[in-house]
Amino acid sequence: MKAPICDVCLTSDILCKADKEKMEKGIISESDVRVSRSIYELSKHVRPLKDITIKKVIETNNLVVIVCKEGDASKIIGKSGVIVKKLSKHLGKTVRVIEEAKDMRDFVQKLLFPTYVLGINILYTPEKEIYKIKIPKKRANINTKSLEEIIKKAFGVEAKIVPCS
Ligand SMILES: [Zn+2]
Repeated sequence: MKAPICDVCLTSDILCKADKEKMEKGIISESDVRVSRSIYELSKHVRPLKDITIKKVIETNNLVVIVCKEGDASKIIGKSGVIVKKLSKHLGKTVRVIEEAKDMRDFVQKLLFPTYVLGINILYTPEKEIYKIKIPKKRANINTKSLEEIIKKAFGVEAKIVPCS
């Protein structure tokens, strides 16, 4: 298994000098460390997890988004979601697994799946830019607040999910 932290950090409770520096620079987060270690623990009993690459972990109070290498999502999710359910229990939060995206739009689309994105508009206000992500009204029963927070953490921009008819 590969993670945002090195193998030594993955299997111990301390952070090496290099990873500590990454943490201080904001290249990796507490979530990267905690969730990667948690998955590593689980990988001792869950074979497919030994063979995955985690690129990034982003989380809110109730949601963990695991960004993995292309082709690895099915290994982390497992047949009928059996592995992701274990992970979710282990972490105490809903877990969403998405494969590495090529840009923001791709990321948002993967994050919101199976809801589809109708369009992304940038709204300019005197203070900031707000990314308005339009989704179909009939799909609006998703936890938009949590997803907006994930997008903000991933790209450092204000995002607003707007149901449109
Ligand atoms: Zn390390």
